[in-house]
Amino acid sequence: KKFIFVTGGVMSGLGKGITAASTGRLLANAGFDVTAVKIDPYLNVDAGTMNPYQHGEVYVLKDGGEVDLDLGNYERFLDIDMTFDHNITTGKAYQYVIEKERAGDYLGKTVQIIPHITDEIKRRIREAAEGHDVCIVEVGGTVGDIESMPFLEALRQFATEQDDDDFLLTHVTLVPHSKNGEQKTKPTQHSVKELRSIGLQPDVLVGRCSDGLEEKTKEKIALFCDVPTDAVFSNPDVEDIYHVPLVVEEEGLDEYVMEQLSLTDQAIPSDDR
Ligand code: ADP
Repeated sequence: KKFIFVTGGVMSGLGKGITAASTGRLLANAGFDVTAVKIDPYLNVDAGTMNPYQHGEVYVLKDGGEVDLDLGNYERFLDIDMTFDHNITTGKAYQYVIEKERAGDYLGKTVQIIPHITDEIKRRIREAAEGHDVCIVEVGGTVGDIESMPFLEALRQFATEQDDDDFLLTHVTLVPHSKNGEQKTKPTQHSVKELRSIGLQPDVLVGRCSDGLEEKTKEKIALFCDVPTDAVFSNPDVEDIYHVPLVVEEEGLDEYVMEQLSLTDQAIPSDDR
């Protein structure tokens, strides 16, 4: 089973969810059965209690699960129905672990973020991925947030537990323009530095920029972030977000991801799925 984790740097609302869903769409086009998990690092157990003015409309799943709007993106991009288990929040993970602790299931052990919460996060991800070829896991929030730390630590552990070609980390960052129109890579460099300081090295970098990344921008990002130049992709502003899969396909994101995950030979025609 293949896992693609997607993290975001610099700021929220970048387009991390759309990038993740687009990657999934392209793999689904190639014939793979793709599912997704959205991680929300807030303490609410679910989005049902959240003010829509603050957080956007609550998205209700077929099984009645009240979740983040992002799950709607995954359902539409991937043409799948998701369940409540495909949304992991800090609240959910802690509630489950604390209930187990109250029931005495830890047999007197000290219950801690590492390993108990991180194990619970990993367990939920693996469970949601059951029966699918590829699972895209979007880690909400921005790298460096206190709230995201247990999830990123779980991700680090997850990476060490997977074979190299069963795990891919995509990091989405912002590439702004300077006043004289130059594409600036410093925010990307900093956010990758932040990731690396917690033991995570991205395999793929996606730069959100008003236009496509120039070759020299890609080369600079590659050099400073220690990835090959062909692992750096653009996600420019588009008028319609449903064009994003086409835009990233043009740069070969799908081919690169499939190659990294040794998915090239396994494609099954979608009619036979
Ligand atoms: P994040 O997951 O980083 O918070 P989202 O994927 O939810 O961000 O996207 C944030 C907003 O940006 C959404 O309104 C989305 O429609 C918009 N968006 C994402 N990617 C693009 C793009 N390439 N061009 C234009 N708008 C985009």
